[in-house]
Amino acid sequence: MNSYVFDFAQGSMEQRDLLGGKGANLAEMTRLGLPVPPGFTVTTEACRAYLKAGDEPPGMSDEIGHHLAALEATMGRALGDPTDPLLVSVRSGGKFSMPGMMNTVLNIGLNNASVRGLADQSQDERFAFDSYRRLLQMFGSTVFGIDADVFSNPLDDLKAERGVTQDVDLVSADLQELVGTFEQLIDKHADRPFPQDPREQLDLAIRSVFDSWNTDRAVLYRRQEQIPDDLGTAVNIQAMVFGNRGPTSGSGVGFTRDPATGDAGVYGDYLQNAQGEDVVAGIRNTMSLADLDQLDHESHEQLLTMMETLEQHYRDMCDIEFTIDRGTLWMLQTRVGKRTPEAAFRIATDMVHEGLIDLDEALQRVSGAQLAQLMFPRFDTVADRTLLATGMNASPGAAVGRVVFDSETAVDWAARGENVILVRKETNPDDLSGMVAARGVLTSRGGKTSHAAVVARGMGRTCVCGAEALDVDAAARKVVVRGGPTVSEGDVISIDGTTGEVFLGEVAVVDSSLVRWFEGDDVDDELVTAVATLLEHADGVRRLRVRANADTPADAARARRFGCEGIGLCRTEHMFLGERRELVEHLIVAEDSAGREAALAALLPLQKVDFAGIFGAMDDLPVTIRLIDPPLHEFLPDLTEISVRVALADERGERDSHDHKLMDAVRGLHEQNPMLGLRGVRLGIAVPGLFTMQVRAILEAAADHVAGGGTAHPEIMVPLVGSVRELDLVRAELEQTARMVEDELGVSVPHLIGTMIELPRAAITADRIAVSADFFSFGTNDLTQMTWGFSRDDVEASFFSTYLERGVFGVSPFESLDVEGVGELVQIATTRARAVKPDLHIGVCGEHGGDPASIHFFDDVGLDYVSCSPFRVPVARLEAGRSASTSESAGDGSK
Ligand code: ADP
Ligand code: MG
Ligand code: MG
Repeated sequence: MNSYVFDFAQGSMEQRDLLGGKGANLAEMTRLGLPVPPGFTVTTEACRAYLKAGDEPPGMSDEIGHHLAALEATMGRALGDPTDPLLVSVRSGGKFSMPGMMNTVLNIGLNNASVRGLADQSQDERFAFDSYRRLLQMFGSTVFGIDADVFSNPLDDLKAERGVTQDVDLVSADLQELVGTFEQLIDKHADRPFPQDPREQLDLAIRSVFDSWNTDRAVLYRRQEQIPDDLGTAVNIQAMVFGNRGPTSGSGVGFTRDPATGDAGVYGDYLQNAQGEDVVAGIRNTMSLADLDQLDHESHEQLLTMMETLEQHYRDMCDIEFTIDRGTLWMLQTRVGKRTPEAAFRIATDMVHEGLIDLDEALQRVSGAQLAQLMFPRFDTVADRTLLATGMNASPGAAVGRVVFDSETAVDWAARGENVILVRKETNPDDLSGMVAARGVLTSRGGKTSHAAVVARGMGRTCVCGAEALDVDAAARKVVVRGGPTVSEGDVISIDGTTGEVFLGEVAVVDSSLVRWFEGDDVDDELVTAVATLLEHADGVRRLRVRANADTPADAARARRFGCEGIGLCRTEHMFLGERRELVEHLIVAEDSAGREAALAALLPLQKVDFAGIFGAMDDLPVTIRLIDPPLHEFLPDLTEISVRVALADERGERDSHDHKLMDAVRGLHEQNPMLGLRGVRLGIAVPGLFTMQVRAILEAAADHVAGGGTAHPEIMVPLVGSVRELDLVRAELEQTARMVEDELGVSVPHLIGTMIELPRAAITADRIAVSADFFSFGTNDLTQMTWGFSRDDVEASFFSTYLERGVFGVSPFESLDVEGVGELVQIATTRARAVKPDLHIGVCGEHGGDPASIHFFDDVGLDYVSCSPFRVPVARLEAGRSASTSESAGDGSK
């Protein structure tokens, strides 16, 4: 027979799955001998059974009865006893703490009779009725789902009538009056009276905690945080202690270190004569823990000792909730505390120095996502700021600009050099051009999977979404801020995509100290020291190498400062653009090989200079260069544009034969689906001389670099190969060119010729392709597009937000590798290729190379390196280290 209920004294912190985070930690504190009011936990398993059957599982109610009886015996009081009642709290708590779940109900066990008993026993009638009105209020709103205003309005009215501002100024008679009012309000809004039977109060409260698992808010939160839907929540039933018994009582919250900066020393707030959440509700001014020392030295000392005990025990920063009941301290909650990215790095390394944890564990306590956040420019926190609203931190960054309400205005204003913030209720695909033009995007509706959030993240645009205090009126070109000013089109605002904050006016932006340090500035602060320590450790333990995607010498040099170990992807498209377009045109309209060769010969020296710059920046490191990949028409004029030009010239009788040929070529090269057309290796085969010109430029530049005393390691990469035959054809030509260059220059430059694996066919036939390739690099962007059969540019802004909402994916497969599908192809290709060439060097050069979750997968598959944008290089180094370091994170891992 299952057990659905456990005493706090029976559990431990390892049992978060069964007891939830709160229950497991209450049990752990009980085991440690800290003063925890006794109680018991109804398990998540009971919740799952209840949700499945729609009713309490058999035996659960009896078990609760037994544990309640034991609690009553311990406390020497019975629940609802009219002379001396035991009161309990009913507290929700799943494995991960979840806003949106049912709130706690305090003071269960009070009714019209037992409130008198409590008054007699405590010799404090005011306290008894204050507790009762709180029960009615909490029960009414959380169990019966009545709007909280229904209760807070009469409370406010009564205070106004009495000419007082604070709850504590109401006297017993006032509170008795409120109890009567609240009872009537429950009758009216819940269509039933408040239950006088204490056991019925308890059972209803437990059920409503279970039911709250499936409220819309809870479901949405789980989807965003990727918490499974089938965990269920536990319920904790705990004897009440009272912080609302006059000036020697109160309740507080604390952290064992500063959760914002990581500074050592406790940090917290205390509120005298208060119960439950009063301290965080902002109803009165709280005092600091140092002030508590003045007020109640003994409790303060005891509190510090307990906080120290908890930190030593959990070996991590903890947060706590406590109550002082007439001078006696009680611990009501603890967990490993949430912290900012800065605090995470600093606390982890401080704890290494304090000998609490080792470096491996410290590495597990930080993440690449946190490091990435620390690298964004930030708003200056010491600057004057006027907060307008707070929404969801959908896409990080700090953006300042003038408010615009539609795409056209955004595009127009941006074109004349203005910084703009696009403000919308919510966005749709029509807003795309505005989002591209804007510095940031702000919406009043929608969560982290809304259209605005998904698209902004994809473009790296700063975004705050769902700022509900904003009433956006695009037609009237204004936003009304609830309880604040009205912002009109053209007004300047600042949005912080890392915190979700929206400020009026321009807030100063400062560069991240970390980025300045990476760039070589002499920055010496505690954060930089902490990051440097953990990066160094990560570099020491990781197997996976980290390269960068860089197309220019400047990018390559920066990536090197950020710690890359080579270039994994140097795109060559830009070497055909700008003024060189004209040469490409000549290449394409050339009627014979002489014309073609002339055009290529003109391009050659220009490209050689480009490659020389890159070899210079990457001396002695490998440089993977991808031969030209996109469809040729991207280098040619638009068909309409050229047709008009030709027609006008013809009409004037000034027929231009170059333009005519160009127009024919553009027409000829037109494709319905360019992504699936003449591109990649297909170009190399269809346009003779194109690839060989590039390879000649690469090898001549490399030879010059070597002749100048440097070292070059070019790796020539052929894109979009689907069949080994394609690679063989191209390879034969490239090798011949290499021999020619070697003969001409008399210098031999060692080089590799490899291929991208970015088509499903290439992955599946990887064993054949491997025979002809010196290396592989997974182009996971194209591989994702080709595997799913959708093009990123077309789908991300159109139906992706719907797909995320409907749960087709939890996260965009372009942001984080689709391990099930695309990942399987990576696995298959690697296994098959290494079966014929065990030492084949294999990397990844898609954007996934900088994504933490994907990096762990690539490490597991046994790839040799990941390659990512320069800014992501430190993130990848850290995550590769975390993937290699086996130590498991301690603590309870609360989200
Ligand atoms: P949350 O999950 O929102 O933090 P809790 O279950 O921790 O909710 O309850 C909120 C507050 O209610 C606690 O911080 C504490 O102050 C108060 N509380 C809960 N149980 C008790 C109790 N048995 N005695 C006194 N106060 C309690
Ligand atoms: Mg709490
Ligand atoms: Mg590609």
